[in-house]
Amino acid sequence: MERYPKSAELFAAAQRVLPGGVNSPVRAFKAVGGQPLFIERGEGAYLHDVDGHRFIDFVGSWGPMILGHASPAVIKAIVETAGKGTSFGAPSRLETELAEAINNAMPHLEMVRLVSSGTEAVMSALRLARAFTGRDKIIKFEGGYHGHSDGLLSKSGSGLATLGIPESPGVPASFAAETLTGVYNDLSSVETLFEQFPGQIAAVILEPVAANMGVIPPQPGFLEGLRQLTCERGALLVFDEVISGFRVAQGGAAARYGVTPDLTTLGKIIGGGLPVGAYGGRADIMRHVAPSGPVYQAGTLSGNPLAMAAGLATLAALAAPGVYQALEDKGRMLADGILTVTGKLGLPVTLNRVGSLMTLFFTGDEVTNYTSASRSDTGCFGVFHRALLDNGIYWPPSQFEAAFLSTAHSEADIIETIRVIGLALNKTEIA
Ligand code: PMP
Repeated sequence: MERYPKSAELFAAAQRVLPGGVNSPVRAFKAVGGQPLFIERGEGAYLHDVDGHRFIDFVGSWGPMILGHASPAVIKAIVETAGKGTSFGAPSRLETELAEAINNAMPHLEMVRLVSSGTEAVMSALRLARAFTGRDKIIKFEGGYHGHSDGLLSKSGSGLATLGIPESPGVPASFAAETLTGVYNDLSSVETLFEQFPGQIAAVILEPVAANMGVIPPQPGFLEGLRQLTCERGALLVFDEVISGFRVAQGGAAARYGVTPDLTTLGKIIGGGLPVGAYGGRADIMRHVAPSGPVYQAGTLSGNPLAMAAGLATLAALAAPGVYQALEDKGRMLADGILTVTGKLGLPVTLNRVGSLMTLFFTGDEVTNYTSASRSDTGCFGVFHRALLDNGIYWPPSQFEAAFLSTAHSEADIIETIRVIGLALNKTEIA
């Protein structure tokens, strides 16, 4: 940490009052054997740390900052809205406007409930699915992450995969027993669970583009197969589009792959960097939510005006023509550049990309599910990550997360990133 003395000092102070010195585990850089950098400010594609270094940022606050940091339109909307008061505990017009903006991009979200985080969105959507079907069990996939609510922590991705935590203490075994786990991209694993628990499965929930075990695209037929299976068995299909919504296409993965779920969860981008989440879907299901129906769910800060304003400004910018094509082009440019470098060096790597989301795995084998993602050499990833950081590239500090591009990344940023990745990989020996 010689390069980062102020961050080291701030981290020491943080550890005295915050468990592990952070408020969300992956931020601690534990898996890459380092210490976190403390950020002073963000601007466009860049982060500036407290020691005066500038980084090209590929974390993007783990997804929300698709327009880059401190986007002028978003900041203006927040400031103007804040001047009128920050929370009322009463309806405001902005909530309807955000629900309408979501519905315009994703017509299958006929009705939407706004909440304050992705965790809350998923927890609430599954309560609704259980109430609607009168069944208790849900199916998730190994390596999928859906927030930290009790029933969803088993065999999860994101920080749990990064830190090697298969189950969390504190979750009653009886809760965990209601969660069944399938294998991503393996329809037969889901069929088997439906056979084993006939009439008991309320919903299948998945990230339609997996991004919390590293990026793994759905193989052709997988989403379609889940759609058919859930219909046949009377279960709901829930797409967790907290990352993929407004990211892999304006209409999310549902639009990109042409498969329509019953319920969808959103977060991140729709709050433009402020705390937000949403769940929505078929109106006949959503009408079961209180106060129009009996399924209780509430929130003091739900539909918060600042989050609504930031989200609306973000979605308006994303609705401009050509935005997603530009993100796709940048994603391809970065991925092609990385593969050219690894090809020249003869390194056995696998790069998975969907639009502006990507993961470089340190394994030559194809990565299609959590087991194959786990074959990646995480020691190598740690060396790679440190070399990137010390050369001005802020890459996600975990093998099992996505790197995120934004509209603010320039071609020059991408060329510089490829150059530094070349330097970093030159030092890397994959097991
Ligand atoms: N679902 C997915 C797919 C996510 O990636 C995340 C967070 N990374 C969540 C749910 C939880 O969202 P939050 O952190 O806002 O609670």
